Amino acid sequence: MRRTLIAGNWKMNGSRAALAELAGMAAAAAEHPGVDVVVCPPATLIAAARDARSDVIIGAQDCHAAAAGPYTGCLSAAMLIEAGATLSIVGHSERRTGQHETDAEVRAKAIAVMAAGMTAIVCVGETEAQRDAGDAMPVVAAQVAGSVPDDATADRLVVAYEPLWAIGTGRVPSIADVTEMHAMIRTRLSAKLGAETAAAVRILYGGSMNAGNAAALLAVADVDGGLVGGASLTADAFVPIIRAA
Ligand code: PGA
Repeated sequence: MRRTLIAGNWKMNGSRAALAELAGMAAAAAEHPGVDVVVCPPATLIAAARDARSDVIIGAQDCHAAAAGPYTGCLSAAMLIEAGATLSIVGHSERRTGQHETDAEVRAKAIAVMAAGMTAIVCVGETEAQRDAGDAMPVVAAQVAGSVPDDATADRLVVAYEPLWAIGTGRVPSIADVTEMHAMIRTRLSAKLGAETAAAVRILYGGSMNAGNAAALLAVADVDGGLVGGASLTADAFVPIIRAA
């Protein structure tokens, strides 16, 4: 009942020329109508991506919590929608770390995204030190509690579990650890949002997902898709992940 969602996060990569890669991704999406295929390019490419391919869902990588105002360099949900985005990542660990975003700020961003009619992909995940200390579960539980809006609905909320030590490193957690973490996240969502909503929210795995490991990760019961960085930049790398779903 949960549609698989495979989302590419291009981060600060790509150019207009890179939008040519969308054609192959769109073809794979058409072959797999049960899979939602999303690409989140840099904000400067959202409108061009939208114009190039109406058959790929286009998302943003971040969204400001305010509707408008004195926030130099930031973009509102309405601006992202006007450009062509229908969802936005919020609270990616690169923003939590690099821009010092807190759970409260991430939650405010998610609220703004959802209120504007977009879907928020709320990212959570532990550091390697936290995992080594045995704190991965409580750290992620606290992030879910603090970052997910209390009134989120399943059509407007996606959660992405991305252990920081797996992002861009080629390392992935064991299937047992992914299974345990995703089940815990759904339990926490159930306490927050109610069992019915929690059962319908998609929980993505992210961190070094690629053609070789996608099938095993996506086979985990509470893994409803992937948030893919490096392997989403080209159709050659991304399409096998779409096929694995
Ligand atoms: P990666 O990035 O697939 O390159 O590890 C995932 C992410 O940060 O969303």
